[in-house]
Amino acid sequence: RAFTGSLPGQGRVDELLHEAHARYAALQDGVVADYIPVLARADPDRFGLSLIGVDGATYEAGAADDAFTIQSISKAFVFALVCEEIGHRAVHERVGVNNTGLPFNSVMALELNLGSPMNPMVNAGAIATTAMMPAASHDARWEAIRSGLSRFAGRELAVDTEVYESEMRTNTRNRAIARLLEGYGRLERDPAAIVDMYTRQCALVVTAHDLAVMGATLADGGVNPITGVRVVAEEVARDTLTVLASCGMYERSGEWLFEIGLPAKSGVSGGIVAISPGKGALGSFSPPLDPAGNSVRGQRACAFLSRALGLNLFASR
Ligand code: GLU
Repeated sequence: RAFTGSLPGQGRVDELLHEAHARYAALQDGVVADYIPVLARADPDRFGLSLIGVDGATYEAGAADDAFTIQSISKAFVFALVCEEIGHRAVHERVGVNNTGLPFNSVMALELNLGSPMNPMVNAGAIATTAMMPAASHDARWEAIRSGLSRFAGRELAVDTEVYESEMRTNTRNRAIARLLEGYGRLERDPAAIVDMYTRQCALVVTAHDLAVMGATLADGGVNPITGVRVVAEEVARDTLTVLASCGMYERSGEWLFEIGLPAKSGVSGGIVAISPGKGALGSFSPPLDPAGNSVRGQRACAFLSRALGLNLFASR
């Protein structure tokens, strides 16, 4: 297994992770998300990094155990679980895999593409993907999502009810998106129930450490390197990373890939998971965001570590 082999020794990785934290901890750029009212209370100074190898080696710096809601990062792992259940082709046909170039909650992207959400990392595509999880009942579908994300994390994840309720009071756009999907014949379940479930999946509580474990599971071809449990098939892990490379960082996905060269997913509460296939994953938490919704410190730390550890996928050496 290549992680330690193709990286500097463990002491050096630890040193670089701490250097990344020290370099950007004082950075004051970005704004904490406030369109979900409870998220506005996040402390902008918190900053945690966790890096986990496919061999299970764990490195942490700063607030790696701070709890926050996973938000959009859930989209990556729900996509993987649904691909595992119904296959690559079905998800591709229903949802698509191209970047929209528009904000994550755009209704315009749906309209311009005659109801095709375009990819599973924008809200329309994520809502359609959640609805595609096969299950005998609504409760069973939710449990498949919650327990599946928990297998990625290697521990039981639970919903932050306050964030969930805050978002349910304000998520009019997501309700509109679900109705539009229904109108285009792309949502066969009750739109209100699916938006409720999607909002719950976004309100699952994680830490930077959890994100690193979840990402390392994708890096490890679907096997959780901490628990040893296979969560998804190797091809599903590969397909998920492919979609993250083109669509994981909102409308800045191209710039991210150009600078950092790794598949990644961000969320509006300040999390980022960046994955180095076959090597490991970085989980980051820092609430202030750029205008697209990506954590400012998280992006800088990922850029620094991708360079320092030689992780850019497109580099020949
Ligand atoms: N729950 C949020 C929403 O649907 C997630 C957004 C995000 O993290 O990008 O608006």
